[in-house]
Amino acid sequence: MLDLIIRGGDVVTPQGVARCDVAIAGETIAAIAAPDTLPAQSASRVIDAAGRIVMPGGIDPHVHLHHVWIKPDGTPLITAGPEQVGRAALHGGTTTLIDFAYWRDGASAQAAIESRDKDFVGKSPCDWAYHIMLHSEPPPEFAAELAEAIQAGYPTLKIFTTNILPSRTGRMIDFGDIWEAFGVLAREGGLGVIHAEDNDIVMHMYAKLIREGRVAFEHLADVHNALSEDLSFRRVLRLAESVPGAALYMMHVSAATGVAAIAEARKKGLPVYGETLHQYLNYTSNDYRRPNGQIYHTYPSLKSREDQNALWTGTADGSIQTVATDELCCTLKDKTVGKRIDDTTGGNSGVEPRLGVMYTEMVIRRGYSLSKYVDLVSTNAAKIMGLYPRKGAVAAGSDADITILDPTRRGQVRAADLHETDYTPWEGHDIFAWPQTTMLRGKIQVENGRYLASPRDGKYLKRKIGSEIRSRAAL
Ligand SMILES: [Zn+2]
Repeated sequence: MLDLIIRGGDVVTPQGVARCDVAIAGETIAAIAAPDTLPAQSASRVIDAAGRIVMPGGIDPHVHLHHVWIKPDGTPLITAGPEQVGRAALHGGTTTLIDFAYWRDGASAQAAIESRDKDFVGKSPCDWAYHIMLHSEPPPEFAAELAEAIQAGYPTLKIFTTNILPSRTGRMIDFGDIWEAFGVLAREGGLGVIHAEDNDIVMHMYAKLIREGRVAFEHLADVHNALSEDLSFRRVLRLAESVPGAALYMMHVSAATGVAAIAEARKKGLPVYGETLHQYLNYTSNDYRRPNGQIYHTYPSLKSREDQNALWTGTADGSIQTVATDELCCTLKDKTVGKRIDDTTGGNSGVEPRLGVMYTEMVIRRGYSLSKYVDLVSTNAAKIMGLYPRKGAVAAGSDADITILDPTRRGQVRAADLHETDYTPWEGHDIFAWPQTTMLRGKIQVENGRYLASPRDGKYLKRKIGSEIRSRAAL
């Protein structure tokens, strides 16, 4: 007996887009069948998806939920957690979120995971996972603990090459320790996920701009600049090249120099992947001058129109594999509380409109195929992060994480219509498709705007990075 048949939609399958029926039994997809070959009486429910797009649930590989950010007055801002952001994600067709567990201050990797579980278990309506984030000097037991974590299903390690802000010392990891980490990742089957900026250039620019009195946040692109991305990407990629088997995922690529560095590494056959953010694809440093210009910002920073063009070219030619949000959900007041280059709140509010906005920008405005669009917002993240084919595929045997998009929907993004917070950087953005139904492991979470999920629905996803992904420039 089937639980559900999704009938007659344009289904984005791993083999391409086809009009077919999707049969679901329990938490998984039982079959993909030719239209009308599955008898209606074989299922408890049939959803008519004629004229709709049936795709795997979105995967956002870079979010920060229940994250602590220190405001300019020294008090902590604790951002929205999995319950609130997960609800927004499901309304927007995203079913899986990958956040971070902070490994710091001499604690063990296991303690980092357990501490983060307290923020998520029983509180997340989406499935989720963590990148382990190395957030202070590695402890003496580092190599053994990292190896153990990778084998236990936590195979991605986030590393910073910068402290980002002058006031935040400690998270930058020196190159000797990164070299050591790459060795462990290569040996044990892990993947390095990297925030690369050149700390010398960034801190030099902070000192210089403060000296010159150019401290307003509109100058952020001068601090977190394209030269910094160039130098740091090349240094970290060169280091990885010297460690056979070291695979890297470069987070939030923001500049043409970053795209070029990734393209060169991939041309050599190195297992290197690029992520950009939806706001880097749609806004430039000129947008800092708009009212509440901080709402378009995350670190590193928005860049020039030429950089943006290179990011788009990168998504088209395969130098960039994923489009994430760097979600950090807070109120407009908190997002704009910092007004200087050294205190502006990072992160973005965008997990809900990501699929809709990217459909407009990719499919409607740039003519990307539906398959290419789905690769960039779901499938490639699943493949790189070790979730495929369980996630990121509408295929027999995969989890029934399915989003049904309505491509007849028209209108504009309005914060008041979203479920995220009291503002959106996407206000007024044109809509050409929007999720009508979102399903997590066979359970309908959102249907025609009705929210049916529970914060207990989500499960932690243990992962294993595929050898294909680790051994060459796959995808
Ligand atoms: Zn981030």
